[in-house]
Amino acid sequence: METLDHHDGRPTWAEIDLDALAANFHNVRRRVKPQEVMAVVKANAYGHGAAACARRLVAEGAKWLAVALPEEGIALRQAGVTQRILVLGGFWRGQEAACLRYKLIPVIYHAGMAEALDRAAHDAGTIAEVHAKIDTGMNRLGERFEHASAFAVALARLTNIRVGGLMTHFAAADEHKHDDLTAAQIARYDEALSVFRAHKHPIIYEHLSNSAGALAHKEARGNIVRPGGVLYGLWRDVLPTECDGESLALRPVMSLKTRITLLKNVPADSSLGYGCTYRTVRETLVATLPIGYNDGYTRSLSNRGRVIVRGTYAPVVGRISMDLMMVDVTYVRGAALGDTVTLIGADGDLRLSAEAVAETAGTISYEITCGISERVPRLYSPTIGA
Ligand SMILES: *Cc1c(COP(=O)(O)O)cnc(C)c1O
Repeated sequence: METLDHHDGRPTWAEIDLDALAANFHNVRRRVKPQEVMAVVKANAYGHGAAACARRLVAEGAKWLAVALPEEGIALRQAGVTQRILVLGGFWRGQEAACLRYKLIPVIYHAGMAEALDRAAHDAGTIAEVHAKIDTGMNRLGERFEHASAFAVALARLTNIRVGGLMTHFAAADEHKHDDLTAAQIARYDEALSVFRAHKHPIIYEHLSNSAGALAHKEARGNIVRPGGVLYGLWRDVLPTECDGESLALRPVMSLKTRITLLKNVPADSSLGYGCTYRTVRETLVATLPIGYNDGYTRSLSNRGRVIVRGTYAPVVGRISMDLMMVDVTYVRGAALGDTVTLIGADGDLRLSAEAVAETAGTISYEITCGISERVPRLYSPTIGA
């Protein structure tokens, strides 16, 4: 059993603080009450480990989970999750029967996929529960709002489909400069909801909001919200500025750590690593770390990122390579072989948030946590069974 203190093999790991996840879930739920929280655990729970996160969220009272693909929903079923699972991306040809067998609730975004599911449900002698998605202005997934009526009519013809939910998705709920679009999206959704009700669809579940919608747009009515990022304590690049995750007491869930594998003094005016992109200006104490871009520590952090060693920031020097990287620990008092290195997370008074790492890398925090590859073991705290 791997624990936080001990795990065999390469000393590179991601710590997943399930108590922080639980606290974030409760804080968000308290904030959005009486709306229900559908916990989004797609993409391996944004890299945090879908099975462990889903199980903990369910233990904390989550009634709904959301994934992107049927495959992800099936994996949760196999991990013992029995709660309702919405499949945000719907399904692809050939997956209709699996959706039924595993009681996944797919999002339907055009009539054709509903017809395929209706046939499969008919063959299986069952009724398929679905949520219909209206595109109210993002112009990505969903049937366009102008066609809501035709969509409602087409779905009403299918006797083995029950449309229990109607949803949309915001394009820019995190940016107040786009509040006009958000308001239009809400109005178009409300209109589509009336249309669906007029066509006798038994809509019980109404939902529009991601993290930013849930916390910054209370006017987005509905009885469920679909936050992902904030559950994992990611908010600085997720919520509009006036929504302070600190005051919401959101806590980061993932930390990324490794240990110094090799320490060496490199003379002044030497180049470091591939492409000789870094030149030492003085004798430099270089620490080699057993983590690289294949682990998801992105190459764009070459010569730009920093880590924490013994409560001191140490800059990334040279290019990040596939399995290794280097940091300058000349000014880290007492730096030694085997020292723990924090790449994401806190050490002493210092913190490197996933949002800060993302900003340095020129991306968003989601891409950083999602990108931590399977090669990096997730060590859960409190420890859970395998
Ligand atoms: C990913 C996703 C969410 C969650 O978004 P966050 O920004 O992580 O809160 C909600 N709804 C849909 C349709 C999504 O795809």
